[in-house]
Amino acid sequence: MTDRKVRVRFAPSPTGPLHIGGVRTALYNYLFARQHGGDMIFRIEDTDSARFVPGAEEYIIESFKWLGIHFDEGVGFGGQHGPYRQSERRDIYRRYVQQLLDEGKAYYAFDTPEELNAKREEIKNFQYDATTRSMMRNQLTLGLEEAQRLIARGEQYVVRFKVEPGEEVHVADLIRGDVRIMSDILDDKVLYKSADDLPTYHLANIVDDHLMEVSHVIRGEEWLPSAPLHVLLYRAFGWADTMPAFAHLPLLLKPDGKGKLSKRDGDRLGFPVFPLEWHDPKSGEVSSGYRESGYLPEAVINFLALLGWNPGTDQEILSMDDLISQFDLTKCSKSGAKFDYVKGQWFNREYIIHTDNARLAPTFRAILQEQGIDAPAERVEAVVGMMKMKKINFIKELWPLCDFFFIAPTYDLDDKFTRKNWKDGAAADMKALRHLLAGLDDFSIAGQKAAIDAWAAETGVKPWNAWRVCLVGTGKGPDMYELAAFLGKEETLRRMDAALQALA
Ligand code: GLU
Repeated sequence: MTDRKVRVRFAPSPTGPLHIGGVRTALYNYLFARQHGGDMIFRIEDTDSARFVPGAEEYIIESFKWLGIHFDEGVGFGGQHGPYRQSERRDIYRRYVQQLLDEGKAYYAFDTPEELNAKREEIKNFQYDATTRSMMRNQLTLGLEEAQRLIARGEQYVVRFKVEPGEEVHVADLIRGDVRIMSDILDDKVLYKSADDLPTYHLANIVDDHLMEVSHVIRGEEWLPSAPLHVLLYRAFGWADTMPAFAHLPLLLKPDGKGKLSKRDGDRLGFPVFPLEWHDPKSGEVSSGYRESGYLPEAVINFLALLGWNPGTDQEILSMDDLISQFDLTKCSKSGAKFDYVKGQWFNREYIIHTDNARLAPTFRAILQEQGIDAPAERVEAVVGMMKMKKINFIKELWPLCDFFFIAPTYDLDDKFTRKNWKDGAAADMKALRHLLAGLDDFSIAGQKAAIDAWAAETGVKPWNAWRVCLVGTGKGPDMYELAAFLGKEETLRRMDAALQALA
């Protein structure tokens, strides 16, 4: 199937917010599709009506929009293979279930939950399969006519897949290599339930992957146990030749200790496990999201891409385009990837440094507004530009670092930096500097630098720390010339006067 067009799908069940592991799965699908000039499909697997959560589908779509992962077709995107929401494909599934029934590859079963439970009590490790199906209430024990009579009478039933024992099932996985099992260990899985007239996940997933011409199934490791059954279903339908290739991605693991990453780890250690903030419609509980926590989508993408794959070089900062060209599905790791959320913060810091100030400024401007400061966009942009190098993981960390840009400081000789730098002679030096600055026409960074450097060299005065006390009130902030140029002459002189008055 080498000449087959690459078509992948991301097929979430709308049972809640999208977990960050699901985002990584979608990302790997996206990278693979783009790399091969293929298509990426968005399918909603909502056959489990009991677990449906309103708003989940919209949430998932919005998450990918924010992250910059684009779909070519699917729910909300259109396409030739629709409908893409499984609950709208009942007729299609009914047809294929009927095909298996007609060919004797599936059968009706009428066992009630009570009857099944009784069997489970009676037989240790009970499994509905070739050795036990003859003891159950199904088409094979009752006969087709009786089964049809029961159905006509309105009895609820399921359709089960008739797994033939003694067959070798071979799952060729692009990441894990060959997985071989004997069909005997599989049970006769339910494919369809009359109670809600819907197929189960397995049937719908296979039929859709076939009809949507999916070439590669890239999904989380938790679906690996279903793969042998899926292979048997492809065979039963006669689709073995166009069966998609499988790739099961490694789990995301807790940042500390053992086991799978969970929402509780996020709550415990203080990081989001969802792309966007999620408001649970039932409980009202709010869970934090990467977007609202101040992550840049590019940083999240870069971070997630390297959880389970790496380019084999030291390069850590990879744009979406870099990832598309360098990603290699077959080089994904087989073992789980520790969710190093601190590394995620580091990525955000790196991306903040390299992102345009104009794009970062609105976030900071909103924070300023919360502080009652309404600063013009260019001023906010300039501050972000001066301060983003200061090792901040998030834009919100900027406020305590640069409040003095917007609010005149107060002065305090108990402040450590002030005490150290406001020594004898500081007041006289600042008076002299004030005089110099007052007479300066060119108050730009270069203009100040030329005048002050010359004055400092001539007099031997090192004015910078005391000047910082005047303009900032303590030992933080950017280069003094940058700061004074930003404040402007009037405000600079005003702060120097205030300091001289308070500290003299
Ligand atoms: N609906 C499944 C999920 O929620 C899809 C599994 C698959 O990709 O086959 O993840």
